[in-house]
Amino acid sequence: MTRAKATSASVVGTGALGDSHHQFGFSFDQRRCTGCKTCEMACRDYHDLGVGPAFRTVHEYAGGIWTQNDEGAWEHDVFAFYVSMSCNHCTNPVCLRFCTSDAIAKDDFGFVRVDVERCTGCQVCALSCPYHAPRFNEASAHIEKCDGCHDRVAAGLGPICVEACPQRALGFGIYDDLVDHPLAVERVALMPDPVITQPNYAIEPCEAALRAVGPDTLRNLGEI
Ligand code: SF4
Ligand code: SF4
Ligand code: SF4
Repeated sequence: MTRAKATSASVVGTGALGDSHHQFGFSFDQRRCTGCKTCEMACRDYHDLGVGPAFRTVHEYAGGIWTQNDEGAWEHDVFAFYVSMSCNHCTNPVCLRFCTSDAIAKDDFGFVRVDVERCTGCQVCALSCPYHAPRFNEASAHIEKCDGCHDRVAAGLGPICVEACPQRALGFGIYDDLVDHPLAVERVALMPDPVITQPNYAIEPCEAALRAVGPDTLRNLGEI
């Protein structure tokens, strides 16, 4: 599999939706994202999640200061950018490996899915996932997470979050077939090293996201 060199800003990356036996994934053109959270809300609405944990969240980063230079002029290095994040349906899903009840499996689309009938709610998957994708539903006492909108994809449709994005910042398709772009990376800002789980998430980064940023620049920790 070719990794970290393909991304797309299209609603649906390529054809072949509904055709299983491929590893599907997401792309994200960070330069287009305005942080509107329509993706998060569309997912929440479609999957009837109410006010509990969301399957997709939008991380907001901002920082920088104004300084006065030797000539007395004011200069700044202020920045703001967003990362829209769900489960990355990793090629090496540690959530699956550490699940204590064999409740997590990878399906024919490459989606990593939770069988709620088997899930005991131990939350080991949530603790092991570096992207914090598995979410504990206190009402049902089991884990829930993004299933890639499996039913829609099997019917030849795109995930609802991708189709809802007004900026066409999110893309979806066969991961290897997403449009090649020399800037694409699998890690920006404070994201974990992709070597750990091999996430199927190709990001076309904005310039600020490639700079070193500290934890203090994440502005909406309470929401994610
Ligand atoms: S809907 Fe699109 S533009 Fe809005 S936050 Fe999500 S990815 Fe960004
Ligand atoms: S992002 Fe986390 S929950 Fe999703 S497949 Fe990867 S390790 Fe598992
Ligand atoms: S693919 Fe479907 S379940 Fe996953 S974040 Fe998008 S809308 Fe939610």
